[in-house]
Amino acid sequence: MRRGELFIGGSWSKPSSDAVIEVISPATEAPVAPVAAAGPADVDATVGAARQAFDDGPWPRLDPSERIAVVRRLAELYGERRSEMADLITAEIGAPISFAQRAQVGLPWIMMTAFCDLAESVSWQEIRPGRYGADIRIRREPVGVVAAIVPWNMPQFLIVTKLIPALLAGCCVVVKPAPESPLDALLLAELLDELDLPPGVVSVVPGGADVGTYLVAHGGVDKVSFTGSTAAGRQVAAACATGLKRVSLELGGKSAAIVLDDADPAAVATAIRSASLSNSGQICNALTRILVPAKRSDEFLDALTTEMQGLVVGDPTDPATQVGPLAAQRQQQRVLGYIEAGQAEGARLVTGGTGMPDGVERGWYVRPTLFADADNTMRIAREEIFGPVLTVIGYDDEDDAVAIANDSDYGLAGSVFTGDIERGVALAARIRTGTFGVNQGYTMDPYAPFGGVKSSGYGRELGREGIEGYLDTKSISVAG
Ligand code: NAD
Repeated sequence: MRRGELFIGGSWSKPSSDAVIEVISPATEAPVAPVAAAGPADVDATVGAARQAFDDGPWPRLDPSERIAVVRRLAELYGERRSEMADLITAEIGAPISFAQRAQVGLPWIMMTAFCDLAESVSWQEIRPGRYGADIRIRREPVGVVAAIVPWNMPQFLIVTKLIPALLAGCCVVVKPAPESPLDALLLAELLDELDLPPGVVSVVPGGADVGTYLVAHGGVDKVSFTGSTAAGRQVAAACATGLKRVSLELGGKSAAIVLDDADPAAVATAIRSASLSNSGQICNALTRILVPAKRSDEFLDALTTEMQGLVVGDPTDPATQVGPLAAQRQQQRVLGYIEAGQAEGARLVTGGTGMPDGVERGWYVRPTLFADADNTMRIAREEIFGPVLTVIGYDDEDDAVAIANDSDYGLAGSVFTGDIERGVALAARIRTGTFGVNQGYTMDPYAPFGGVKSSGYGRELGREGIEGYLDTKSISVAG
């Protein structure tokens, strides 16, 4: 792999400086690989190449079917390198290999094809009758040069949900992966290099927040598609306001699982384990506030405790492992800090805690941790922890559960668990989030628009809306 070079506008180039990102294994704490880091001059070159490709090149002007054919070819190439991609993600962020294969790589692979199918049904041009007699011609045109900035937790999934719809729309894209996870992005660049893409259409610039900040503020960028923390999202939104750029923000969450009194405790516990502790809890739409009927809280707590204590924690390369290390040492320290805060605020630690998991000697691990007897004012109930820590809160009746679920700065996702599906769907309408699940953690369906409200951001990815976010509407009215 070409780790000493940057993929700028479709060709591999020496970086402008000798700055290097050292990727460290979260499981062993040993170096994995040094990767060339982009600097401002490299960002200037990538945006310049993208600008030229968008303003003068063929890509935005192709028939959509031609772009769809290129992306379908990418999906074929991606399928052939799936297992290598999963190994890289496990090496760089410590995702358990079974999760890496199934979700970190399996989902983006499926999404490439799903986006192509969706693009075939986009109304690229239409004619509508105008108010004054003449017809109005409506064209859907690409928004321009897109900066796609992603975090490390689901690196390929997040790149693909931005890059693919933007390409299908006819945009030119600069991808900035997180410094913790540049390796998978470089493998994707290799696959892109095998396609017949015109120069300038895609670039990949690994780097930290400084590179992201510079890219967002760059005058050649028309739209920023950002996924990351709410704190960084606010800065991105402010910079985009200054430059009057389009922006979509997929930010943090503190999603509630509302467990109704007719739900089956064992089924609920299994679903919450899968939705909230996969990827070692580093999932933006994880259900981390578990709202249970106060009268039956012991039953649900027992079932959750059994599930959490049964989790296999350890070496992420072992297919049996369900919980690996966290992706970064600062992330581990942050999560341990929340466990201490939960105890200090008076929540009851049911299982887990700040010690290392049994049998693990090194790496950035945190034990799967369950708090009970919490209330919704505690930090562990209000702030995004982004690790394997769940907080159980009791409620009195359904109205109380709805009030607690909605009492959050965030509004990304949530779920209800009930024996009565219609009761669950009715409750979904009362919760202020962008997505919601009934009897499951919210499932990422490529056809379902995904995104948040409140401090979880704005804009939608996936589904038809995921492509429309990269399109502008032009009206052409012709004198009759
Ligand atoms: P982060 O905000 O620190 O970094 C995310 C990315 O943005 C990185 O590439 C980083 O280098 C870059 N960046 C940081 N500050 C920037 C700035 N001011 N301008 C431009 N770029 C900047 O986030 P993180 O801690 O790496 O990732 C975890 C966060 O991502 C969590 O809050 C999680 O909920 C969120 N997330 C959200 C979704 C979603 O779809 N809503 C999905 C995954 C992760």
